[in-house]
Amino acid sequence: MLLRLLLTLALIGALIWLWRHRHRQASAAQPAKATEPSGEPMLRCAHCGLHVPQHQALTSGASSYCSQAHLQQGPSHSER
Ligand SMILES: [Zn+2]
Repeated sequence: MLLRLLLTLALIGALIWLWRHRHRQASAAQPAKATEPSGEPMLRCAHCGLHVPQHQALTSGASSYCSQAHLQQGPSHSER
C-alpha cells in the first residue's frame, strides 16, 4: 500500500519534471518577446477602474492610473 503511494508520487513528480523540462525547452526555442501585446499585463486605474496596458498606465506608488488627470485626482473611495 505504502509502496504504491510512493510509486504514484514518483510518477507525478516525474511528470511534473518532464512537463517543466519541455516547457523550458519550448520557451528557449522561441526568441523572448517582451513586448507581446497579448502577453502584456493589464493594470486597473485606481480612479475609474478602467483596464489599461502596462505601457500606457501611469503608476504612482502602488496604484496605477489610465491618464494623467486620474493620477492627479488619486484613487476614488467614494463609489457606492
Ligand atoms: Zn481612470
